[in-house]
Amino acid sequence: MSLPLEMRAVVFERPDAFAVKTVPTPRPTPGHVLVRVAASMVCATDRKILAGKFAGTAFPHVPGHEFSGEVVALGPGVDGPAIGTPVGVEVHLGCGSCDRCREGLYNLCQNYGKRETGHAHIGFTIPGGLAQYASVPAAALHVLPDGVSLADGAWTDNLGVALWALERGRVAAGERVAVVGPGAIGLCAAQLARAQGARVTLFGHGERLARAAQFADATSEDPAGQAGTFDAVIEFAGTADAALDAIRLARRGGRVVLGGATGRGVELAGLDLSTIVRGHLDVLGSVANPRRASARALPFLARGEVDVAPLTTHHFPLERFADAWTTFVERRDGAIRVMLHPQER
Ligand SMILES: [Zn+2]
Ligand SMILES: [Zn+2]
Repeated sequence: MSLPLEMRAVVFERPDAFAVKTVPTPRPTPGHVLVRVAASMVCATDRKILAGKFAGTAFPHVPGHEFSGEVVALGPGVDGPAIGTPVGVEVHLGCGSCDRCREGLYNLCQNYGKRETGHAHIGFTIPGGLAQYASVPAAALHVLPDGVSLADGAWTDNLGVALWALERGRVAAGERVAVVGPGAIGLCAAQLARAQGARVTLFGHGERLARAAQFADATSEDPAGQAGTFDAVIEFAGTADAALDAIRLARRGGRVVLGGATGRGVELAGLDLSTIVRGHLDVLGSVANPRRASARALPFLARGEVDVAPLTTHHFPLERFADAWTTFVERRDGAIRVMLHPQER
């Protein structure tokens, strides 16, 4: 198949300005694979990038880090996956040689942003998948298991993020687990925890929580009423109040994983430290997903134990990115994740 010389892509041209434009189709560089993008979603981090608040991003920038597609070309030095293979993309690729990467924690790569070392943060420091084609490091690809659609495969990275938080919290079958924050990642975490035999209570507010009830065993708007009762608490809301709720929900000796507040500037005040010290709590931070977390998550999707289709609340062709963006940012019609389809007109 000959590749078109040009493609359509979302371009963040400068802070707070974007357009869908015709740009040159990327050619896969050494170690990279060219992916024909089938499905690509927007997330809250894209808002930070567009606002110019993400230091590692240089404008103009093609965003998109939650996507899937088919392999259409292999760059020099790459011998797979075969052309036509359906793949999901993991966002972080470490340099591979720093101390953290050698531990498998390439989400903590010490050479972050230094492209010359091999580090790549797809859609952040290198061009992403809100485009018809994306050149992606081969090591960032996950072949989609049989039975996983390309649309569901766009959740490859999100599922890895959610599963890694559960692994950090050592969630086990039979445990009582609280998930704070009924957004996209929180609802992946809730489903993955249930699939592993935990009993999950989802904490949040209002209509957003009510709509998410199907993904948990119980829902609650009253964390104070259940303080000190959960074996493990997973937070994906990103506010200080949510972090306080999460810490207070854990039973003595329990585990708390804080995964929501990934950006700077959210401060925690008003916590009695004895809650952690006398509570004998493990309070853990979790950012992104390291080695093979997405690979461990995809089988849950293939077995139907996790259902992301209802979380993909809206679909648009790429040309209607502006409508998709507004729908997502304003959470119109209960938007959780908004999916762009770059091959559709
Ligand atoms: Zn994201
Ligand atoms: Zn590294």
